[in-house]
Amino acid sequence: MIDCIFCKIINRELPASIIHEDDQVIAFMDIQPVNPGHILVVPKVHREFIAELDEDLTSRMFNVAAKINLAIRKSDIRSEGINYFLADGEAAGQEVFHTHLHIFPRFRNDGFGL
Ligand code: 5GP
Ligand code: ZN
Repeated sequence: MIDCIFCKIINRELPASIIHEDDQVIAFMDIQPVNPGHILVVPKVHREFIAELDEDLTSRMFNVAAKINLAIRKSDIRSEGINYFLADGEAAGQEVFHTHLHIFPRFRNDGFGL
């Protein structure tokens, strides 16, 4: 049994604000958002790194991300831009070893300097 926070969210053993779910992918609000509307897109299978996903699942993640992107643009968050961010490996800043894509709204002068 893998002790993984995101698997627990997928299995409803931990609460999360889920905004999308299909047979392969789930998306929920980040518990410590860098900006309002910070969302994580997560494959439902436990894989540590993005390159472990097959082509179909990788494209499903990015298709879901595209829908979320459009929803953010239409929402009253009034974001001025959107970052996609994926930390792949500890040296890249990965803290949860169940691969995931961050999507977060950006605002001019929001201080990230990215
Ligand atoms: P990483 O550094 O691995 O790319 O990002 C992990 C992200 O998962 C962080 O932004 C962190 O706030 C988020 N996170 C960690 N634990 C939980 C949790 O229990 N629930 C939710 N919704 N997000 C979490
Ligand atoms: Zn997992």
